[in-house]
Amino acid sequence: MTTAIVVGGGPNGLAAGLQLARHGVDVTVLEAADEIGGGAKSGELGVPGLIHDYCSAFHPLGVGSPFWREVGLDRHGLEWAWPEIDCAHPLDDGSAGLLHRSIEQTAAGLGADGRRWLLAFGDLVSGFDQIAPDLLRPVVNVPRHPFRLAAFGPRALLPATWLARFFTTPQARALFGGVAAHAFHRLDRPMTASLGMMITASGHRFGWPVAVGGSGAITRAAAAALTRAGGRIETGVTVVDRSQLPDADIVMLDLSAAQVLALFGDRMPTRIAKAYGRYRVGSSAFKVDFAIRGDVPWRNRETAAAGTVHLGGDLAEIAYTEKQRAAGVMVDNPFVLVGQQYVADASRSNGDVNPIWSYAHVPAGYTGDATEAVIRQIERFAPGFRDQIVWSESRGTVALERYNANYAGGDIIGGANTGVQMLLRPRPALDPYATGVDGVYICSQSAPPGAGIHGLCGYHAATTALRRAGIVAG
Ligand SMILES: Cc1cc2nc3c(=O)[nH]c(=O)nc-3n(C[C@H](O)[C@H](O)[C@H](O)COP(=O)(O)OP(=O)(O)OC[C@H]3O[C@@H](n4cnc5c(N)ncnc54)[C@H](O)[C@@H]3O)c2cc1C
Repeated sequence: MTTAIVVGGGPNGLAAGLQLARHGVDVTVLEAADEIGGGAKSGELGVPGLIHDYCSAFHPLGVGSPFWREVGLDRHGLEWAWPEIDCAHPLDDGSAGLLHRSIEQTAAGLGADGRRWLLAFGDLVSGFDQIAPDLLRPVVNVPRHPFRLAAFGPRALLPATWLARFFTTPQARALFGGVAAHAFHRLDRPMTASLGMMITASGHRFGWPVAVGGSGAITRAAAAALTRAGGRIETGVTVVDRSQLPDADIVMLDLSAAQVLALFGDRMPTRIAKAYGRYRVGSSAFKVDFAIRGDVPWRNRETAAAGTVHLGGDLAEIAYTEKQRAAGVMVDNPFVLVGQQYVADASRSNGDVNPIWSYAHVPAGYTGDATEAVIRQIERFAPGFRDQIVWSESRGTVALERYNANYAGGDIIGGANTGVQMLLRPRPALDPYATGVDGVYICSQSAPPGAGIHGLCGYHAATTALRRAGIVAG
């Protein structure tokens, strides 16, 4: 029987293990933490009964992942819940850009830009199911829908700021700019529009749901599917040396490029080791979790119904602060993402005390305390928020790395989304999952299609391994 060891039990490690186990491979997952889940974990923090997402919170690419849909995570206990409004981007004048699951409803709310919103994203949304498989795998493959992909291409290559200026209202511009800021890259750089378009379109296709009971439900469901397929999971095992690895035909590494290099660099062909050595880490996150009494007192009333809230002012301000961050400057008004998961999933609250999730974009390796900057940004759009805080806890770059060794320097997206690395990660290659060491593969978010809890990096890496082992054709 073919054997496999998976190092790391995040969404991608579990997906890789599951894909292998479904094809009869004997799989063991080794996870450093006491609990599997990596970036999709949750639990009680601060105030009894309040459930916080430790990392990921909103899951258009989770509910829409072709792999998780095929596995049927709902059959393993996962339930999604949708907020009334997917995402709000409030502005200083009390208005807001609102992203609804329905593209028509979103367009109707954007006034003069409604028609333009439909023009910019309508074809992508209606063709999403055809185009997504091409976009959510290595770009070197022959596209299954070349014409649809070709239509997406020219817009996707643009800097997000250019595409945003196709809109005329500050609300639509900021709404798209805020979504594109998920790229964690300067918005005036080529191809940053692509990620914004992808998240916007997947949101219109699937919504931005939360997992009922917390994001940990996603990886618990994946682990249940893996165990049912015969896989085993061992927690509390940190792999720092490959001598720790039991003999196996296949080794799947749900690890950062730096960890892969540290474990197997001396066995890699020199050119591959050099490429891993050149791989650039991304910018950092500074996470703040709150318990607050009541709801956030947003000046824009509709924002109260949004699961995700983007804070950072108008397009010009976000473009400027993201540029400063990329240059290593910590600004007073960073881009902040706020999560109000409880508006979709009431089980996360205790009476009138509610959990609020947030993180700020900060420069790579930033070691200062951004808590006050986060609170100030929320207060700017929700005066009085500070007085409602019952409890808060901050996790800066050092704490994030302690939580998960993949988040070196606070990089939560597995490597900078520079143009080349966004498409060709962790190195330009026909088979990006192969490490050049026989039977050893990288299956983390540092491989295509990148960050998100879709599990597709793991799925594609495992499928490659199955092909190379002659277990599946191709
Ligand atoms: C604050 C934050 C917010 C986010 N928000 C979202 C969101 O809303 N939506 C979304 O889709 N994505 C979000 N993400 C990104 C998402 O969490 C990641 O893209 C995803 O978890 C990547 O999965 P992975 O399996 O590649 O890696 P990880 O989730 O990093 O899993 C890797 C696993 O390997 C383990 N590990 C690491 N080193 C070792 C070792 N040496 N030995 C053994 N085990 C090891 C870790 O403990 C971890 O369990 C967010 C991430 C963070 C941190």
